Amino acid sequence: MAAPEIADLDPDERDIVAVVRDWVRDSVLPVARDLEHTDTYPAELIGQMKQLGVFGLVIPERYGGSGVSTPCFALVTEELARGWMSLAGAMGGHSVVARLITRFGTGGQRDTWLPAMATGQVRAAMALTEPAGGSDLQAITTRAAPAGDGYRLDGVKTWITNARAAEVIAVLCKTDPAAVPASRGISILLATKGPGFTVSRDLPKLGYKGVETCELVFDGYQAPAGALLGGQEGAGFAQMMDGLELGRVQVAARAVGVARAALEDSLRYAQERETFGQPIWRHQAVGHRLADMATQVEAARLLTTRAAAALDTGRRSDLEAGMAKLFASETCLQVTADAIRVHGGYGYSAELDIERYYRDAPLMVVGEGTNDIQRSVIIRQLIGRNRV
Ligand SMILES: Cc1cc2nc3c(=O)[nH]c(=O)nc-3n(C[C@H](O)[C@H](O)[C@H](O)COP(=O)(O)OP(=O)(O)OC[C@H]3O[C@@H](n4cnc5c(N)ncnc54)[C@H](O)[C@@H]3O)c2cc1C
Repeated sequence: MAAPEIADLDPDERDIVAVVRDWVRDSVLPVARDLEHTDTYPAELIGQMKQLGVFGLVIPERYGGSGVSTPCFALVTEELARGWMSLAGAMGGHSVVARLITRFGTGGQRDTWLPAMATGQVRAAMALTEPAGGSDLQAITTRAAPAGDGYRLDGVKTWITNARAAEVIAVLCKTDPAAVPASRGISILLATKGPGFTVSRDLPKLGYKGVETCELVFDGYQAPAGALLGGQEGAGFAQMMDGLELGRVQVAARAVGVARAALEDSLRYAQERETFGQPIWRHQAVGHRLADMATQVEAARLLTTRAAAALDTGRRSDLEAGMAKLFASETCLQVTADAIRVHGGYGYSAELDIERYYRDAPLMVVGEGTNDIQRSVIIRQLIGRNRV
C-alpha cells in the first residue's frame, strides 16, 4: 500500500519519516514477531532508534534534538507502530516528558536533561497512574512533603511504562493535599533512581510486549528542591494536561500505525488467497470490508495529523487531541478485528502478525486517558467553545 501522505511536511521532515519507514521495513519487520512472542526487550532496535534521533524529535535543536513539527512526530510514531507498537511506546512517555521539561522546566532542568534525552542516552518515563485509579488524577495520593531542602516522596504508582529503562521519571504528586480545588495541590517531581525508590514489579500484559510496564514504590524517597518541575508547586496538573495533549496525539498515531499494518497485511492476503476460484477480495463481503478498513485508517490519520498541527499553533488543543485519540484507537480496535476476519483461520495464527495487532489495539483505547475520559474532555470543550 502507498505510504501515508506526507506532502505537507517540509523536505527535511519528509526525509526523516522516510528514513524511519525504511528502517522499520529492513530492521524491525524481520524480527518483531519473535521478539514479541518471547517478550524480549528490543535493546538493539532501541539502540538504533537512538542513532536515528527518534528520542530527540520533540526536543529543540539548541538542546541537541531535531525539534520537528508535531505532524512529523506523529508520522514517525505511525511508522514505528506499523512495525511494532512497542517501539512507538518506548519513545511515547519520553517525548511527553521532553515536552514538559522544554515548556515548563527551569533553565537548569532543561540544561541537565534535554541534551542527554535528545540522544536517548537518558530515557524518561511518566508516572501518573496509581493502584486506586488513573482517570481521576486529582485523587492521587502520592505525597511530596517538605523535607530538608527538598521533598520526601511517598506513594505507589502503577502501569508505568519504560520505568526500568528510564533514568528520569516525571512523577505526579501532591504537594498540598488540602488544596481546593485538588488540582492546585498537584506538582511534578523529576525523580531519579535512588534510595527509597523501587521498581517493585513488572506487570504482565495482553500485548505491548518487549517494553516493561511496572509498579513503582516511593518510600521516604528524598528529592532535591531542584527536582520540582519549573520550580513551581501546584502547577503540575496543568503542566501534565498540556503534556498529555502530545501524549494523546502520540497514542492516536500509534493506533493509526497498528491499524495500517492490519490493513496492509489484509490487502496483500486478500489478493493471494483464493476461494471459489477467485481472490477473496472479489467477494463483495471481503472487498467492502477492506474498503471500510481503508477509509477508517485514512480518516484516523487525517484527524491525528490535524490534531498534531493544532498542537503546533500553541493554542489549547485537547479537543483535537481527544478526538484523534478516541477515533484512531476505536478504528484500530475495529480494523484489527476485521483483519482477523479477512485472514480467516490464519488471522488467529501466532505464525502471522494479525493476532499481535489485535492484542496491541486495546491499549490505545485505555492508555493516556480512556476513551470515556476523552469523550468527557471533548464535550466539555465543545460546550466551552459553543456556549449559548
Ligand atoms: C500497558 C499500559 C501502559 C500504561 N502506561 C502508563 C504510563 O506509562 N504512565 C502512567 O501514568 N499510566 C500508564 N498507564 C495507565 C493508564 O493511563 C490507565 O490505565 C488509564 O488512565 C485508566 O486508568 P485506570 O486503569 O485506573 O482505570 P479507572 O480510572 O479505574 O477506570 C475504570 C473504568 O471506568 C471508566 N471511568 C472512570 N472514570 C470515569 C468517568 N468520570 N466517566 C466515565 N467513565 C469513567 C474508565 O473509562 C474505565 O472504563 C498504562 C496502562 C496500561 C494498560
